[in-house]
Amino acid sequence: MQNGALLAELASTVARFNVLPLGSPCNLNCYFCSNRYNPPGIRIRRLPFLKLSELEPLFDFLDPCRKIVIGESATRLCEGEPLLHPQCLQVLQRLRSRFPQAQIQLTTNGLLLSGEMQRELATLVPLELVISFNSLVPHTRNRWLEDPRPERTLQQFHCLGENGVPFQASFLLAPPFLSEVPVSLKQAAAWGASLLRLLLPGGSALAPEELQGSLAYWREQSRRVQGWRKEVAAPMILEPPILDDLAADVDGVFPGSPAALAGFCPGDRITLIDGEIPFSRVDAFAALERAVNPLCRVERQNDVLWLQLEKERGAKSGVVVSRDISRRELEDTFRFTPSSGRGLILTSELAAPILTTALGAGFHDLPVSIAANQTFGGSIRVAGLLCVQDILKTCQELRYAGTAWDWLLLPAAPFDAGRDLCGQPIESLAAECGSPVYFSGSGSIRQ
Ligand code: SF4
Repeated sequence: MQNGALLAELASTVARFNVLPLGSPCNLNCYFCSNRYNPPGIRIRRLPFLKLSELEPLFDFLDPCRKIVIGESATRLCEGEPLLHPQCLQVLQRLRSRFPQAQIQLTTNGLLLSGEMQRELATLVPLELVISFNSLVPHTRNRWLEDPRPERTLQQFHCLGENGVPFQASFLLAPPFLSEVPVSLKQAAAWGASLLRLLLPGGSALAPEELQGSLAYWREQSRRVQGWRKEVAAPMILEPPILDDLAADVDGVFPGSPAALAGFCPGDRITLIDGEIPFSRVDAFAALERAVNPLCRVERQNDVLWLQLEKERGAKSGVVVSRDISRRELEDTFRFTPSSGRGLILTSELAAPILTTALGAGFHDLPVSIAANQTFGGSIRVAGLLCVQDILKTCQELRYAGTAWDWLLLPAAPFDAGRDLCGQPIESLAAECGSPVYFSGSGSIRQ
């Protein structure tokens, strides 16, 4: 690491996301890797592996009360394969000795998960791996991930259960892998995966066509996932989730948990918790965690059930729900927006239905418009990849169509250190929109 500016950028990313970046090198070359399809102008930073001596000062910016994440790209830093880092184990050991109780999550493609490595990692719990399996078929792994020795990789996966390292398994729902997914999910669950993560393929306009699926295609995959949930014991989540409402639907249940023992099933809808109607999925999740022996009214197809969880205050309930929005997040957002004038919310295609439902549940009577992600294009639909130009273009189109507003509310997620992924400062938004701009959840005001 050579300069103070880079150190400041890394420190800010670590503090904001609780992600510890190790570096960008990777030992696979997956055809779907988003790093291959960034549009021109996107300022993604690729870093060589940082030395242990460079990483240790970044520990100061980690919050041990939140999950510490390794191996996930955050904002402009492109993250590679963490186990390829020559000092990866030492980094993890130092991290564990600095934060003995912290939950650590490490995402890996699994190529270097030898039996010995698995046993070393098992000594560092609470640590959980997220293994990007994607395919358990040797020739598919070789062709589409460029795994040079797929049989050996699969043998390593077979040992996961006996070596005792906790892990989640992820699979991309893209055409070369789709036909094997039902079987692979059962296999990953049999090896001991605690959670199965199914990823919708998100590709920019430069990605192969099969990674640029329409929203209709994504919905079709979402329906398939609901079917698989009935056949596999491990809980399953879809990322990103496609949500049209805030109904507290249960996506999955951890075996042996209070929710499982109470009889909860995937697909259940929680309508009351100790007499209170949950505002959203995440509020239901939090209410269950807070409560002592909560009694729940649950709708299951045409039946209504009353299920009681036996649990202590603060203990995990064991239900898995998709991330939507909490009442608190909305309250924090609207604490700083004007109570008068015409406000307009611009957000991503995926967030718009949830926000519209949430506002209808007693918050502001504000219109919500979608800012299409034209910079990335393709099937990129999440707020985190919106750019300043996308928002300005949407404003132009809305003005042309006769829409007027006095202030704008935008998602905070796309902006890191005041800039979008193209390096455009957020100040240019307010200047070019000609109206004050507010950011969700941040409380910050940009005039
Ligand atoms: S393992 Fe991850 S970082 Fe490496 S090529 Fe595949 S998708 Fe990209």
